[in-house]
Amino acid sequence: MKSLKENFQQAHIVIIGSGIIGKFNALELSELGFQITIIDPAQLQNSSNAALGLLMGNMYQKRRGRSWDLRKQSIELWPKWITFLQKFNYELNIEKPLVQLTTSEEKFEKLKRFILTFNDLNLRILDKESIIIKNINKAFHTKNIKGIISLKDGRIDAMTLLKTLDKYLKLKNINFVKEEIIKIRKSNKQWISTTRKNENIRSDMVILCNSLKTVDLIDGLSHKIKLKPVLGQAIEVDINDAKVDLLSLPKQFSINSKNIIPTSRNKLIIGSTDEYSTTPEENTFEKLTNFLDKQPSWLKEAKISKKWYGIRSRPIGEPSPIMKNLEEGLIICTGFYKNGILLAPACSKWVANEAKNYLS
Ligand SMILES: Cc1cc2nc3c(=O)[nH]c(=O)nc-3n(C[C@H](O)[C@H](O)[C@H](O)COP(=O)(O)OP(=O)(O)OC[C@H]3O[C@@H](n4cnc5c(N)ncnc54)[C@H](O)[C@@H]3O)c2cc1C
Repeated sequence: MKSLKENFQQAHIVIIGSGIIGKFNALELSELGFQITIIDPAQLQNSSNAALGLLMGNMYQKRRGRSWDLRKQSIELWPKWITFLQKFNYELNIEKPLVQLTTSEEKFEKLKRFILTFNDLNLRILDKESIIIKNINKAFHTKNIKGIISLKDGRIDAMTLLKTLDKYLKLKNINFVKEEIIKIRKSNKQWISTTRKNENIRSDMVILCNSLKTVDLIDGLSHKIKLKPVLGQAIEVDINDAKVDLLSLPKQFSINSKNIIPTSRNKLIIGSTDEYSTTPEENTFEKLTNFLDKQPSWLKEAKISKKWYGIRSRPIGEPSPIMKNLEEGLIICTGFYKNGILLAPACSKWVANEAKNYLS
């Protein structure tokens, strides 16, 4: 009798879309022994390349339901995947901790209640005499900043992660097709994905990870799924004030829901916005730097050195993400309008189990 892995080696899976979700699915499925083809016409222009890479697993206050289950699983899976992926890039790492700050007394009371309710030893209320709060107050000229620290949450550099996955997929000889799929159909138990150049790619299974465009591919198959675009913008700014050392601040933190990542003594990344739009506006700087009633002059006078955005997809009428078996051999795993980087390990584990059940 053939082993499961031998069986899988004969099965061919097509993954449509090569953002973090498509690539992570390819990693997990290829480790199981499946033959994988990833198809994407523009793998560098997706929302995964725009992500800041914050892994807010424990800090999110919702601690029940599917979203918590996925976060909890991902929190457990990430360290294992990091150890595995470090064989391909030893620099890949999760920088910890993550700090969440607010100037709102009401929000802080809510954070405190959350920490006391769940009694999670990795989540702590920051003392106002702590070095973190003191340094933030000094840099941002504030007096009323309060917050919490999560020792287990952190940040993975999204570009480094994607490049590491590329390295793995190349070494594993995963087939990559730089084309757009315009149609999928089933014929004699096989799926046929048709490219814009009218080439047909046959497979035993198709996994849809192509965000907003998923809808176009399944419309003809009469599945009712709706997704709307969510624009996320981020900036990197240069500051010009010798008295401020941004490296004295935590490596990643948020103030009033804006995420801040100091990258050098005088450079900061700030992100991201959430707008139901597909076109970035001109006033990104104002939108991203208005997280305090009174900005320090170094921030007001900062100059944008880089500006970028990504368009994510948010399901309408159902929770994010959409993970479903649409029909035999057709899986949808998309609609990650946020937390796609965080959730990739848990979602690809679910996809792998579905593939194993269907193809073994
Ligand atoms: C500014 C910003 C900051 C963010 N910060 C964070 C963060 O800190 N932490 C976090 O966890 N998440 C963050 N996110 C969210 C995260 O980026 C997304 O959840 C995640 O990237 C979604 O990945 P994806 O693979 O589903 O989609 P995408 O990365 O958008 O990939 C979809 C791919 O499908 C391809 N495609 C589309 N149509 C077709 C077709 N017909 N045929 C073939 N291929 C097709 C596209 O070319 C694209 O490459 C951020 C997002 C933005 C924009």
